[in-house]
Amino acid sequence: MSDIRCDCTRCDAVCCRLTVVLQAGDDVPARFVAINEAGMEVMARDEEGWCVATDPARMCCSIYESRPDVCRRFAMDGPYCREIHADYLARGSRGIPLVMY
Ligand code: SF4
Ligand code: SF4
Repeated sequence: MSDIRCDCTRCDAVCCRLTVVLQAGDDVPARFVAINEAGMEVMARDEEGWCVATDPARMCCSIYESRPDVCRRFAMDGPYCREIHADYLARGSRGIPLVMY
């Protein structure tokens, strides 16, 4: 695991480039929802890979109060956060083929 401490206020919303699979009970605006190749409802992503609900000016969630359950459970500075953050930096900020369930 990376030794770099992660803080959302100093991060490019790296976790918001992961595929977010929607769960029963999630209530996000329909315009932000897509169907992936496996037929599952996911948060749609833009051409650079960020979730379309990401606020590009502030690099934070524009639907924070109604964000999906999987996003609520993603722990800042937890092992997965650190891993994808380190990978993001190592790749020069491109391509993270991971999925959140
Ligand atoms: S949870 Fe981690 S990866 Fe996500 S925005 Fe915060 S610091 Fe970045
Ligand atoms: S819904 Fe919000 S917290 Fe979840 S991936 Fe999209 S922008 Fe990030």
